[in-house]
Amino acid sequence: MFFHVKINKFDYLCENLNDNEMKRLLSVLMVASILLSTSCKNTKTSSADDSPKNVVLMIGDGMGVAQVYSLLLVSENPTSFMRFPYSGYAITRSFSNEITDSAAAGTAIATGHKTRNHMVGMTADSVAVPSLLSLMSGRGKKTGVVVTCHASQATPAAFLAHNEDRKKHEEIAAEIANNEDLDVLFAGGKRHFNERKDNGDLLEVMRDSDWSVYDSLPQVKGDERRVAVIAGRKNLPKAPVRGEFLPDATRKALEILSTNDEGFFLMVEGSQIDEACHANDSAYLIEEMKDFDKTINVVLDFAEKNPNTLVIVTADHETGGLTIIDPEGKYTKTEFKFSTRSHSPTFAPVFAFGPGAANFSGIIDNSDIMGKILEIVK
Ligand SMILES: [Zn+2]
Repeated sequence: MFFHVKINKFDYLCENLNDNEMKRLLSVLMVASILLSTSCKNTKTSSADDSPKNVVLMIGDGMGVAQVYSLLLVSENPTSFMRFPYSGYAITRSFSNEITDSAAAGTAIATGHKTRNHMVGMTADSVAVPSLLSLMSGRGKKTGVVVTCHASQATPAAFLAHNEDRKKHEEIAAEIANNEDLDVLFAGGKRHFNERKDNGDLLEVMRDSDWSVYDSLPQVKGDERRVAVIAGRKNLPKAPVRGEFLPDATRKALEILSTNDEGFFLMVEGSQIDEACHANDSAYLIEEMKDFDKTINVVLDFAEKNPNTLVIVTADHETGGLTIIDPEGKYTKTEFKFSTRSHSPTFAPVFAFGPGAANFSGIIDNSDIMGKILEIVK
């Protein structure tokens, strides 16, 4: 009732209250102010403080909730996932299938459109649609992609190309080489660029378009206008054999992209969590999760120093149907069990940090992520 009292009447009221009544009034006002501040925190609208300039979108390929929990079980220290103030779940089904593949899920995340399995950067009706990366470039942002798989693999392809068939690697690589919106590319898969059926050399095409193209990260100077490291013919080796490529490439990309006054968009993929789970190889999974965890910490450290940065970590789908069981049923041991060599239809976890992060909590659709980012970004 006090909120209906006009200010002058409120002053009059205060002057005529005894001590006990005044204490009651103050306690009511305190509770009201706590309720108001809580409801403001949970309100999913953007304000100036909720408008990030930079966005880092990180995708753990095949990283379901059990994969995130598996890391927690083997880690002595808190994992990077504990650093996120907001989390939620994304619905992953594709336009065509209850169980999505990486192409359709990547496309939903990258373009906001549900599509058929095997298609990248296109609607289910085969209409090419712009990706978040391209739209961010249109807003003056520098853009980057960092992965440990082929550059033309489904997830990066969803952000950089348009094709009805994710397996047309040479066509996808050609589109990537000619993508005007991309500034930084750190990946594998060189064979689709320079060992092609058409005998073309896409690395030369890129050099003609202001790209500096290298074989390894240490060659990057940092002042190139556009810079690519295509570090190997195929996927990069497994973690930990490939060393610190993913965290180091991500750190380098952040350094380069953050020189742009208008901000940047960076997509980072923990690409081989998926490979590990397809192989039902829990040791490989843990090494890939540790590598992704280290990379997330690199990004969160950057975001803490640059508070105009929104960080979202999610997955395209779960792979392997991973469950964590006690084989003896006594709650004393844990053992990783895979129930399939394929994908499974479960929620993809979503973690968000930075301005606007509250928009990504609760249950959302993977195709809503792009729109939510575009709505709040400066
Ligand atoms: Zn995938």
